[in-house]
Amino acid sequence: MTPEKQLKNSKRNDYWLGTTVSGIVLDPNHTAIVDTDLLCGLLKFKWRAVKSNRCWYAKTTVDTGDKQIDLSMHRMVASTPRDKICHHRDRNSLNNRRCNLINLFRREHQFIHLNNSILIKFDDKYSEKQADTQNPIFTSSASNV
Ligand SMILES: [Zn+2]
Repeated sequence: MTPEKQLKNSKRNDYWLGTTVSGIVLDPNHTAIVDTDLLCGLLKFKWRAVKSNRCWYAKTTVDTGDKQIDLSMHRMVASTPRDKICHHRDRNSLNNRRCNLINLFRREHQFIHLNNSILIKFDDKYSEKQADTQNPIFTSSASNV
């Protein structure tokens, strides 16, 4: 991504504005990639980088009045139902463009990561690039088979 401009949001997140792809800065080391048409809506929330299962995710905390709920940016973007997993197609957990997200049932999601494990075994080039071996979803499903 080559951002056209860097703009600054005075109160909340810093962000990069591009024509189709933009970035929301989560902290000095992490930026979430989003579709530009969703940028304004997403900037209504204060995002931060949270490490979970050895991957970094963009999360925000919403106050519902009686309790605070942590929400993931990728699940918000993909409108992921409670019973589904939102999968990042390119395995980049901070690439939250709609084209990179797909909602899957847990079993479908495990299947994808399990098949990827076969690629890792047969192609050394994958082993360095793919972070899936670090994903507990992958490792737990792999160990069950
Ligand atoms: Zn996944």
